[in-house]
Amino acid sequence: TRRLLSVKHQPSIGKYTGKPNPSTGKYTVSFIEGDGIGPEISNSVKQIFSAAKVPIEWETCDVTPLFIDGLTTIPEPAVQSINKNLVALKGPLATPIGKGHRSLNLTLRKTFGLFANVRPARSVKGFKTTYPNVDLVLIRENTEGEYSGIEHVVTPGVVQSIKLITREASERVIRYAFEYCRAIGRPRLVVVHKSTIQRLSDGLFVNVAKELSKEYPDIQFETELIDNTVLKVVSNPSSYTDAVSVCPNLYGDILSDLNSGLSAGSLGLTPSGNIGNEISIFEAVHGSAPDIAGKNMANPTALLLSSVMMLNHMGLSKHADQIENAVLSTIASGPESRTGDLAGTATTSTFTDAVIKKL
Ligand code: NAD
Repeated sequence: TRRLLSVKHQPSIGKYTGKPNPSTGKYTVSFIEGDGIGPEISNSVKQIFSAAKVPIEWETCDVTPLFIDGLTTIPEPAVQSINKNLVALKGPLATPIGKGHRSLNLTLRKTFGLFANVRPARSVKGFKTTYPNVDLVLIRENTEGEYSGIEHVVTPGVVQSIKLITREASERVIRYAFEYCRAIGRPRLVVVHKSTIQRLSDGLFVNVAKELSKEYPDIQFETELIDNTVLKVVSNPSSYTDAVSVCPNLYGDILSDLNSGLSAGSLGLTPSGNIGNEISIFEAVHGSAPDIAGKNMANPTALLLSSVMMLNHMGLSKHADQIENAVLSTIASGPESRTGDLAGTATTSTFTDAVIKKL
């Protein structure tokens, strides 16, 4: 099986330094079940990990947000758990609309300094999409840009939103992207931007990338305007199979969904990792899917593949490969073992059972 998520070695930034519990030999991972379909897909991951005898103990965290002085806060026991365990797997969290507070997802990224969002998107065997062999890796700046949360009304009818770009945040995500190229063995880094218009902000991002490229002579370095990238990705995605792309926050958010759509045609397949210097949180790209919550219909693959990324990050790559193979071969084996989003007839539970049989 082609591996979607394996790394040749850990990038030198954001390395996992957790140790197993000496008495049990198991690593502890913080677990956020999430809202909507979260509990169902979390349950699937737990069952598969248990059947695969992965040496992990889950520490379930309650992240029901607290709103203090207009700020979103994560309950202290959850913060302590993640700070202690250095790694978490997270189900989707619903964002209440228009309540005037920051989303919990954003709060988690800020709280733990998760500066890089790694989003691989690869087509899977058994589900036909427009292009057969999409294999894209995108790294999104995760802490600033248009997501800085700085917005105000200038005068009635006029609103200003600030896009914040700093040298520090640009440097750490671009450096990580160079390191990630080396880690997964891709020879090319593409910096995606719009510095023709956003001259200062995207200009800074690109300049930092150019400076850093001198430290990575083994990686071919390119810059590309976001509109060009979109055109190239939808018309010829295979031109990126040797590359990692990196971009500021908003572009990355949008481009990664485009990548998911091209590779999978379903958000139910796309995993991601939020990487910080010491702490990393892995999660599916999709949301809490309230329309299908509680109906045993959700596809747990995206969370499972996120857990595979997590296992690789923790150096447990044998377990990662075993689970990834089982998931991909279950999807490939026919419509009766695929969930409805992939035009199949399986439920979350029957899919989970089928994966366990393939371990
Ligand atoms: P969504 O991703 O939850 O759902 C979009 C569509 O995809 C829905 O039709 C849904 O049924 C389907 N879908 C998503 N995941 C699926 C899966 N695993 N299996 C089968 N079908 C799946 O997006 P939304 O409806 O825009 O958002 C719902 C909530 O999730 C919102 O509150 C949003 O803020 C939140 N959200 C959270 C995260 C996160 O926690 N990282 C990400 C995106 C959205």
